[in-house]
Amino acid sequence: MSIGENTASQVRDVIIVGSGPAGYTAAVYTARANMKPLLIAGSVTAGGELMNTTDVENYPGFPEGIMGPDLMENFEKQAARFGTEIQFEDVTELNLDGDIKTVTIGSGETFQAKAIILSTGSAYRELGLANEKRLSGHGVSWCATCDGFFFKDQDIAVIGGGDSAMEEALFLTKFAKSVTVVHRRDTLKASKIMGDRAQAHEKIKFVWNTAVEDVLGEDKVTGLKLKNLVDGTESELAVTGVFVAIGNDPRTDLVKGKVDLTPEGTIAVEGRSSRTNVKGVFAAGDVIDPTYRQAITASGSGCVAALDVEHYISDLNS
Ligand code: NAP
Repeated sequence: MSIGENTASQVRDVIIVGSGPAGYTAAVYTARANMKPLLIAGSVTAGGELMNTTDVENYPGFPEGIMGPDLMENFEKQAARFGTEIQFEDVTELNLDGDIKTVTIGSGETFQAKAIILSTGSAYRELGLANEKRLSGHGVSWCATCDGFFFKDQDIAVIGGGDSAMEEALFLTKFAKSVTVVHRRDTLKASKIMGDRAQAHEKIKFVWNTAVEDVLGEDKVTGLKLKNLVDGTESELAVTGVFVAIGNDPRTDLVKGKVDLTPEGTIAVEGRSSRTNVKGVFAAGDVIDPTYRQAITASGSGCVAALDVEHYISDLNS
């Protein structure tokens, strides 16, 4: 049977769910081990978070840096080169019971495998304000590379104090008149190099110890209501764009109640392995990592999952 044909009776060795660095690395390794992996890449989220980023300067092997989408295209090509079958569809249901697992995708088609690698990554965190949701797409955004261009010569706020917030703020200086970073503490969580770069930029200002109480505006954003967390004073910041960059939450909706999660909400794995509490189900990348969450650590984790699956399948066959 050629790669790409799917019949109800075909039971693959492994299906990988998710197409970030973890998923594609797992695909490269399992494909090179002749396991003919099927990777379900997602419809709109294919390529994962790096698709929304610009220069990646810290992925080893690219001394001049590489654009996030280009890196993901390379990952995809490398996985395909060794025979990974890739479906740009969303998984709608997973049946992880028993020895043969079933994956259902958006079209209703089902696929079966002896092992599953979950590499579903993480999703942007929201502030949780009603007006943030209402004005999403009308001035509130989670992706500067996607939407920054719409805010040419405007005053913009970025919420957060991590690397993502610094990256968004620096990117937005290409378009914005001014960028104000609003952070709830007086020190950054971002790496020193990113924090220093943002603090040295003439277009970027910082508002410290401050929480966003509300997003203001009728049809589009006109400002933010802020609260100083030290003295309790309230103020308004006039901006027409708000970029929320306060971290991510692991994407576990598909597996809630099916595999064990940690108190942080990531999929629980055994020690340094990728083994979940369900036999034949492995997990890798941001979805298991509450701490490091780098492209390179996700890749390493995808490699671990591929090697674990290889051992699992060979034990089944022996
Ligand atoms: P992060 O490191 O978890 O930082 C999130 C920031 O948002 C923190 O400053 C946090 O405040 C703040 N925050 C969280 N919840 C909030 C809320 N409800 N309201 C207001 N502020 C809130 O997340 P990240 O910046 O997305 O980075 C995630 C990982 O990706 C990190 O490991 C980071 O190094 C990596 N990353 C790396 C790069 C790069 O190297 N170029 C770029 C992007 C991301 P506190 O500081 O008070 O906790």
